[in-house]
Amino acid sequence: MAQLSIEEKAAVVAGAGFWHTVATPGILSIAVSDGPHGVRKTAEEGSELGLGESIPATCFPPAAGLASSWNRELVERVGQALGDESRAQGVAVLLGPGINIKRSPLCGRNFEYFSEDPLVSGELGAAWVKGIQSRGVGASLKHFAVNNQETNRMTVSAEVDERTLRELYLPAFETVVKREQPWTVMCSYNRVNGVYAAESEWLLTEVLREQWGFAGLVMSDWGAVDDRVAAVKAGLDLEMPGPVADSKAAVVVAAHASAAFEKKLDESVERVRRLSARAAESAGPAFDEEAHHALARAAASESIVLLRNDGVLPLEAGKPIAVIGQFARSPRFQGAGSSQVNPTRVEPALDALMLRTPVEFASGYSLAAPDSALRDEAVALAARSDSVLLFVGLPDGKESEGYDRTDLDLPADQLELIAAVTAVNPRTVVVLTNGGVISLEPWHDSAAAILEGWLLGQAGGGAIADVVFGSVNPSGRLAESIPLRLQDNPSYLNFPGDGDVVRYGEGIFVGYRYYESADVPVRYPFGHGLSYTSFDYSDLVVAKDGSSASVTVTNSGDVAGREVVQLYVAPPASGVRRPKRELRAFTKVWLEPGSSTRVELALTSRAYSFWDVDSADWVVAGGEYAVEVARSAHEVIAEQSITLDDSRPTTKLGLDSRVSEWLEHPVTGPVFRRAAGGDPIEGGTSVLDMVASMPMRRLLRFPGIPIKESQLKALLVAANNPVIRGVARRLGKKKS
Ligand code: BGC
Repeated sequence: MAQLSIEEKAAVVAGAGFWHTVATPGILSIAVSDGPHGVRKTAEEGSELGLGESIPATCFPPAAGLASSWNRELVERVGQALGDESRAQGVAVLLGPGINIKRSPLCGRNFEYFSEDPLVSGELGAAWVKGIQSRGVGASLKHFAVNNQETNRMTVSAEVDERTLRELYLPAFETVVKREQPWTVMCSYNRVNGVYAAESEWLLTEVLREQWGFAGLVMSDWGAVDDRVAAVKAGLDLEMPGPVADSKAAVVVAAHASAAFEKKLDESVERVRRLSARAAESAGPAFDEEAHHALARAAASESIVLLRNDGVLPLEAGKPIAVIGQFARSPRFQGAGSSQVNPTRVEPALDALMLRTPVEFASGYSLAAPDSALRDEAVALAARSDSVLLFVGLPDGKESEGYDRTDLDLPADQLELIAAVTAVNPRTVVVLTNGGVISLEPWHDSAAAILEGWLLGQAGGGAIADVVFGSVNPSGRLAESIPLRLQDNPSYLNFPGDGDVVRYGEGIFVGYRYYESADVPVRYPFGHGLSYTSFDYSDLVVAKDGSSASVTVTNSGDVAGREVVQLYVAPPASGVRRPKRELRAFTKVWLEPGSSTRVELALTSRAYSFWDVDSADWVVAGGEYAVEVARSAHEVIAEQSITLDDSRPTTKLGLDSRVSEWLEHPVTGPVFRRAAGGDPIEGGTSVLDMVASMPMRRLLRFPGIPIKESQLKALLVAANNPVIRGVARRLGKKKS
């Protein structure tokens, strides 16, 4: 460090172009690349901006698909393959995973994110990072934090209360950081409560480094830095891309002016040095394209969610079918923007289906413009066919990085096609292609079966054929709810905000946390997904202290398959509003027909906790909790209750405490009730209830109140003595 001038230090904390860091004596330049579902290494520095021009790489299913697998081990294997491909291309850090919460189904980048639930996002994000880093390639956990929309993403301020941040928007990052120590974290473009993420000392230093113990490097999202000096102070190590002349000049001036600033700069330089020292010095061997394509297919087949099936699926191979829909021939298999991979090959569903069975094909629609002749031809084919596979979905331009959707609808011509085809053929299976959730209305009931195909990566076509013909038993589960109407979504009135402010008015009630708590019906709940077999659950046992739950799962059907075991916790009423239930553990098991397994799931105290703003900590409210095994956030199969002690710090009683708090207190409560002769009733109204929310000091001001401040003060001494309080609490319990 001593050998570097301030100018050299200021240069090293910014990029050398789009995809490299700066080389300086003692520090080698390294290459970074997008991410996340494939390696997007641009061919030459000169064509860095060309989104479509990258070296061929395997396009794995984007996160929206992969998340539906709920399979940590599978995601880890995808991470390992991404690591091997990165090594082969000489990439030191792959820019992913993206683990932002799906707050609204409209977010244009939902295809790149895992879930509306922080547990699913954190667990699968951690598996991805574990996989890639096991190959000596770094991850870049992004976009930190609260980047849940694309509208005005570079300027918008997400206005979120702290409890919501801690319980919903930060925990996935926390899990990945604490468990896997990603080499890098990428800050987001947006502001959080008025402060740019790039300049937020609270986020980048207090929370990330001091509270979670992050030891790696923080880089900016591309172009996210507004004020480089503020960003250095906040703990943002590397500005990307670079060099940025203004930033460098400002950093040089600030470092000359302040030793404290130079010290911060030195810390960032040291982190850049450590990152570059971790990177492999030479490229790894070529990767196995065949094996990675096969893995992409396996991952895609686990990403498909069988939403509905009246028994038409699986189809029998060898029997002629009609395949309708342009997407069967020209699949849309990834989203648009920085994550767009140039695939090593693409396997259309039509080709894969034709290998199994005689197929007649009609495109049904054109993605360029409505075409009724194509529709008529397809309907005629449907009418003379035994069964139909109907491929519909969102066209490319509908969802992308950079902008959000404004509705959940399929294009009108595709809706007309669904109505016409299902009217003439009752054995119609609808296969969906979409990155973010789409509406299944009004056609849902007319389809014999529905496969949610998300965006499945380059091998998605083969995976669809595997599921349709039953060589793979579907095991995907929704990682996000499918609402009946966009208006039902809890963020509806607050998305994407007004201008540069978006208020997270729904708080922690995102996705199923809202639908379940407010009893709002959805088309399909979070966690839903069907199989070609059935699974039974028995003997749920929950440890008394809540530290684990075990249950026996049996495959009670005729075919082997995978089941996702979902464990939720439903909290007691505690004076703090909490979701009806929250997912707290899950695992995926493989079961042969007729076989059983005992599944044990560990739970920590966090499973029962909420973030207490006053004590700035996680606390457990005392009371009875239900630990539930469920098929989805809506369908509980078995539950067991446990009683936990309150871990909230006892707040001292004072004259400003509410009357209700005096009444609930083990020392003062009985004294007051006795003095009041029970609860005085006037004209049918409880007097104590009426005054319950008043601070005691204010009650004293009313004329005729027969209590003196001096008496209360004497009582407070006893009430706030822990020994007396303990005895009073025990006596109270005995009495009840
Ligand atoms: C995206 C990041 C991406 C970066 C580099 C940004 O626009 O938000 O996710 O890694 O560009 O391409």
